[in-house]
Amino acid sequence: MELLKGKEVAKKTRENLKKEVLTLKEEGINPKLAVIMVGNDSASQIYVRNKSKVCNEIGIEFDEYLLPEETKQEELLELIKKLNEDKAINGILLQSPIPKNLDINEAFRTISPEKDVDGFHPINVGKLVLGQDTFISCTPYGVMKIFEDYNINLEGKNAVVIGRSNIVGKPMSQCLLNKNATVTICHSKTKNLSEITKQADIIVAAIGKPCFVTEDMVKEGAIVIDVGINRDSEGKIKGDVDFEKVKEKVSYITPVPGGVGPMTIAMLMTNVVKATKKQNKLL
Ligand code: NAD
Repeated sequence: MELLKGKEVAKKTRENLKKEVLTLKEEGINPKLAVIMVGNDSASQIYVRNKSKVCNEIGIEFDEYLLPEETKQEELLELIKKLNEDKAINGILLQSPIPKNLDINEAFRTISPEKDVDGFHPINVGKLVLGQDTFISCTPYGVMKIFEDYNINLEGKNAVVIGRSNIVGKPMSQCLLNKNATVTICHSKTKNLSEITKQADIIVAAIGKPCFVTEDMVKEGAIVIDVGINRDSEGKIKGDVDFEKVKEKVSYITPVPGGVGPMTIAMLMTNVVKATKKQNKLL
């Protein structure tokens, strides 16, 4: 069994980006990410702080827009449109969740596809489906980067993705399909799940339930990617996979923490640098 150390891949990715950003700055180009947060969600505050730290490490400028809980939809859209127009801003990210009375889908649609570094705009999702160059949602993009870094060839492999969310499961499936894997998407209504996962050469677990994938669901020698981030009763982070038991059967597995998690922000930064280059006609 070999551990897929996302933490190390993420570190390497950030170091490469740092060099790229230095080169851009020598040309007078300063990549900048704008992050919008609405309300006071405490988890979001931590995520945004982490993003700001990594931007700082890489040399990407970071603007934070904190809107009050009672913000109206028009006000949110107005801010997004202002940021779309602002040539100094290369990437825009709307941190979710936002208050329930606001329409997050309309907000995502309002972000210019050229600045949509989260890859949530329908145009960018559509391009992913069509196999065209686009901004890919950061977590599945990070999983693909891990496969690339470990030279794992996906062609012809049976890949089973558990979870069909718009930010992880669906784009993950599409990325695997684009690399010629044979993809099955499972979800909460799937029958005989373990019969399906037992056929898998690759399992990607994106469910949000600790230790959901057990060793009897996994074939000998499979590759297991654990996207889950769950907290147990002691506040410790647990994945969706029963790591201790499953690791005995697999060829590769991502740990939690230190697997997929650190890749997400690294790929967000990759998307910001890509957006900057595209906007400056360097790509
Ligand atoms: P979600 O709640 O939007 O989706 C969960 C999916 O799991 C759904 O599609 C659902 O159909 C499926 N599911 C639920 N119960 C199931 C069952 N019994 N059998 C089969 N499928 C079942 O969650 P999400 O946003 O996709 O996130 C999934 C997990 O990944 C969470 O733990 C989340 O914290 C984590 N996550 C990690 C990162 C990261 O940076 N590593 C990023 C995003 C999400």
